[in-house]
Amino acid sequence: MTTHSHSHPDPHPDLHAHSCTIKTVPAADLAAAADKAVRINPHNAPPVQALRALAPDIPLPPARLSVMTKKYWGAKGVKLTVGFMDSPAADLRARILSHMNAWGQWSNVRFVETKTNPQVRIARTAGDGYWSYLGTDILSIPANAATMNLDSFTMNTPDSEFYRVVRHETGHTLGFPHEHMRKQIIDRIDRAKAIAYFKATQGWSENEVIAQVLTPLEQSALIATAQADPLSIMCYWLPASIMKDGVAISGGTDIDALDAQFAGLVYPGPLTPSCIWPNGKAYFFKGAQYLRYDPKADKTDAGYPKPIAGNWPGFPATFSSGVGACVLWGGGKAYFFKGTQYLRYDVVADKADAGYPKPIAGNWPGLWADNIDAAVCWPGNGKAYFFRGSEYLRYDIAADKTDPGYPKPIAGNWPGFPAAFAAGVQAAVVWNNGKAYFFKGSQYLRYDIAADKVDAGYPKPIAGNWPGFWPSGLDA
Ligand SMILES: [Zn+2]
Repeated sequence: MTTHSHSHPDPHPDLHAHSCTIKTVPAADLAAAADKAVRINPHNAPPVQALRALAPDIPLPPARLSVMTKKYWGAKGVKLTVGFMDSPAADLRARILSHMNAWGQWSNVRFVETKTNPQVRIARTAGDGYWSYLGTDILSIPANAATMNLDSFTMNTPDSEFYRVVRHETGHTLGFPHEHMRKQIIDRIDRAKAIAYFKATQGWSENEVIAQVLTPLEQSALIATAQADPLSIMCYWLPASIMKDGVAISGGTDIDALDAQFAGLVYPGPLTPSCIWPNGKAYFFKGAQYLRYDPKADKTDAGYPKPIAGNWPGFPATFSSGVGACVLWGGGKAYFFKGTQYLRYDVVADKADAGYPKPIAGNWPGLWADNIDAAVCWPGNGKAYFFRGSEYLRYDIAADKTDPGYPKPIAGNWPGFPAAFAAGVQAAVVWNNGKAYFFKGSQYLRYDIAADKVDAGYPKPIAGNWPGFWPSGLDA
């Protein structure tokens, strides 16, 4: 992307007539709204134990914890009903809904219009700007009040504004905060100039500018991509004139690739590739090494394999070789299994969570207590599959337990698996092409997820088909 020079005029003066504000529930309701957010999705809770461990002397009063509580809907996905405060024509309603549902192309998100008790309530109040409440907070707003405002939107509003504004406000309803509130971006803003600018253009008071533009998101409350993304749909345009370096923040005009990956990570859905990390890569392990595979380029990245030790922050020494299984889970976590233990890895913070490894026994209801060979989250059914020896079991991700009736033999339950694979597999991944891949020794097979069977012509040798892989096979 190119940057705008200091003297460059605002390229879209009309498009920035309104900045967006994230509305917060009234102060008296903050604690109840935070409780609700944690009930709906336990991952929303602020990391109190970690904070106390890091800084035992810093007080954590309830008001502060409320502010640090995230507002994401759960890993089961988002299905919300939508209504309108006024009576827009059917074509406008359908157009708004279609842009809200754009998020569903990459994540398990669905908005459905209803006339009775809608959860998302859209107003078009002129002069009130663009705003939304954040995620689960919409459930704390009185039923006769809007949860989102699309100031003066009509069928005559340019299409680009439907992309830029409707998708952005819908992102807030999904729990996504402003990308321009990332510290990396705020550090570049000239405070005095910003206060003057937003006073002049938005009529905001100094306190409003501080709250909406100049207060970085709590790092500890942040689930986010590693780097701030100035092209994120959740990032608003900031003019060069208020930036210390004179370089404007472009802001997003549509859901970009990082937004899509992030949404898929937070709300994994039927179309979400379950083994591709937010950086677009997949990881494979063998012995004391790992490699990073680029599914788009269809080859191992240059410089790999590398040693596990030193490259996976927070990995204990025992996990620096012989990882048995690795599975990318919902909620921004990955799990690694070895022997009787497992550890949880925070994909976006890029480090193992504190307090791990833990024993598998007692923490994964119904799962074998040791020696997991392979694990994979499956698209479309909310299940993960675990493999050990000649058996597999199906794990319900939302219920967080093994489904009744498992484990079962692989043989007879995975159509097309040859005998060598029915006797056990070493690794499994799902790609974003509707296929799963299973690895055993020097061979692999491709499984069609929709057809629920092995594709014809498999297994094939790894050598020659997976550039940069260990030809003799993988551990995980
Ligand atoms: Zn916004």
